[in-house]
Amino acid sequence: MSSTGAPLGMLAELTHRCPLACPYCSNPLELESRNTELDTDTWRRVMREAGAMGVLQVHLSGGEPASRRDLEDITKAARDAGLYTNLITSAVGVPPARLAALADAGMDHVQISIQDSVPKEADRIAGYDGAYRQKVALAHEVTRLGLRLTVNAVMHKHNIGRVAEMVALAVSLGAQRVEIAHVQYYGWALKNRASLMPSRADAEAAVAKIEQLRRDYQGRIVIDAVTPDYYARLPKACMGGWGRRSLNVTPSGRVLPCHAAETIPALEFWSVRDHALSDIWEHSPAFTAFRGTAWMKEPCSTCVHREKDFGGCRCQAFAMTGDARVADPVCHLSPHHQIVAELAEAGGEQAFAYRGR
Ligand code: SF4
Ligand code: SF4
Repeated sequence: MSSTGAPLGMLAELTHRCPLACPYCSNPLELESRNTELDTDTWRRVMREAGAMGVLQVHLSGGEPASRRDLEDITKAARDAGLYTNLITSAVGVPPARLAALADAGMDHVQISIQDSVPKEADRIAGYDGAYRQKVALAHEVTRLGLRLTVNAVMHKHNIGRVAEMVALAVSLGAQRVEIAHVQYYGWALKNRASLMPSRADAEAAVAKIEQLRRDYQGRIVIDAVTPDYYARLPKACMGGWGRRSLNVTPSGRVLPCHAAETIPALEFWSVRDHALSDIWEHSPAFTAFRGTAWMKEPCSTCVHREKDFGGCRCQAFAMTGDARVADPVCHLSPHHQIVAELAEAGGEQAFAYRGR
């Protein structure tokens, strides 16, 4: 590996098919169809190439990765390549026998998304009756098999008052970690922003509550959470910095610096069908476009934080300003920061636009 260094993690989006229809789904508005998906042998090669590059972890994701009948083969290929293997699943349609087969194939860790601690509300957000019951059942099976479990809780205006209940649920299921993820507003979530964005008061109360929960549950569960974007003063180092730590392979084989990168129209993405993974990581136009700090404009280019947050999220900068090279408007130093303040105060309500299945 060159001076670029190796990515630590790879998100392998095996399919965009999913039985659920969450209105904040991070899959693109144009879902890739089944007949464009990479075949098993290509995924095996991708796993070997990732292991050879020095990737440490692979996240087998989707859509719902269990929609693929060859998930066990892909899991085994990842394990054989020396990768720590994490299944990111909705848990819907994953029977216990399937989970046992995945564990036999070398799965190390399972991450289950749970939409709310109130079953009826969880099913409403997922757009699937009975989803909550299946999630809880599979979580018990994960711990019974001795696999490690993370509960992923995506927070928004309809559940942000139940952060404590979500953490308590994760503890009761035997999770080692709970990820409190606030909705990020691009793609499906941008369509549903008025129905999902919490008020400033609710977001600030949740941040304070999470600090309290960390103290209360110290040593029992790890609580991962960041301040909701629209209410932070400084942006996050999105993806740990563009092209620095991770890469994302779509179902059809395009390799992206982050799952939302295709929302920036001018970027050129290379495919694992045509290029080796290491070549894409080091040389493809999409990865080199915003790697490091040379691409930055003012105020980022001379800012003391530029090596920490790398100017924030490129996709959010583009979505709000039409220019992917400006500072993330979440930053209070951005000349576009007013846009964020206006959106945060906008409020409103509308029926969910559920993602397609
Ligand atoms: S966010 Fe919801 S709809 Fe999207 S892949 Fe995950 S479970 Fe499926
Ligand atoms: S100006 Fe740019 S580098 Fe500085 S804190 Fe804001 S986004 Fe980060």
